[in-house]
Amino acid sequence: MRSYDVTVFESPLQVSDRATPEPVGGEVLVKVSAAGVCHSDLHICDGFYDLGGGKKLRMGERGVALPITMGHEIAGEVAALGPDAKGLKIGDKVVVFPWIGCGQCAACARGDENLCVKPGFMGIFRRGGYATHCIAPQAKYCLPIGDLDPVAAAPYACSGVTTYSALNKVDRATLQSQPIVVIGAGGLGLMCLSIMKALGAKGALVVDIDPVKREAAMKAGALAAFDPKAPDTVARIRAMTPEGAGAAATIDLVGAGETVQLGVDCAARGGRVIIVGLIGGEITMSVPLFPQRALIVQGSYVGNLRELAELMALVAKGGVAKIPTQTRPLDQAQSALDDLRRGAVVGRIVLTP
Ligand SMILES: [Zn+2]
Ligand SMILES: [Zn+2]
Repeated sequence: MRSYDVTVFESPLQVSDRATPEPVGGEVLVKVSAAGVCHSDLHICDGFYDLGGGKKLRMGERGVALPITMGHEIAGEVAALGPDAKGLKIGDKVVVFPWIGCGQCAACARGDENLCVKPGFMGIFRRGGYATHCIAPQAKYCLPIGDLDPVAAAPYACSGVTTYSALNKVDRATLQSQPIVVIGAGGLGLMCLSIMKALGAKGALVVDIDPVKREAAMKAGALAAFDPKAPDTVARIRAMTPEGAGAAATIDLVGAGETVQLGVDCAARGGRVIIVGLIGGEITMSVPLFPQRALIVQGSYVGNLRELAELMALVAKGGVAKIPTQTRPLDQAQSALDDLRRGAVVGRIVLTP
């Protein structure tokens, strides 16, 4: 097998050729057909997250050990099964749930492996999909996709389940009766619009600094798209909410200080600002605003296995429009990361070994 690995933080990926592993116990060997390139892969190969105010969260402190094969949006074919792996057969096409926990802690016990205290996420803590093959530790993490194109299926494992889980935090009746604000119209933003449509949402007021991305959002069915640099953006967004009271929910897919501030500024009383993006930064807020406006500021981190299964069922029903993807050969993984870093990507890059 071949993989493209981070061997030193802030350095180009290195190719590695080695024997293809034999699955043991309940493991499943997946022959990778498609691996999405996610924004968080940039943080992983940099080796840190920007916490704002000059503070950094280092990957080493999170327990990330090098070398690591990135790639947590994986779709492929079951190539071999460990003796205890049940419910799959060789050749099954699957999407792999990457947000795997320890299986022991309270979060794992309630099914929120994505919030595990000792995570073993694929592509971060264990080898992922920038490779010809990868190992899923249990069959339950391989969700069959039937005839769905693996290139379309792979991004649901991160960008899909992340936006689905964020949308799950908005009361469904609210989502269906009122516009919500969606900040960021990159890969996650377009995925969010697509899932909103499938959930019967009223629609999105999209915010993005890039006119190309705003146009892509309008094509994907946004109610309106705003440039956050325009001085009247908050007023114009509020004017599009019921009684001009502000947004019941904002999903911030960027996660910078300015975008969270924008979400707070647009929020209705009792409104919810759900922070998903990890660009970094910090905000300063007057504490009395929380009770006075009954404001909820909430983080949302990827999603759990049940949510990915629900999302794949929604996709199978045909209600989720395919987001724009561009495929590249696996050996162009580094140039894909470079393009993503420059912001030169509309939709999702998917690597195909
Ligand atoms: Zn991701
Ligand atoms: Zn756990």
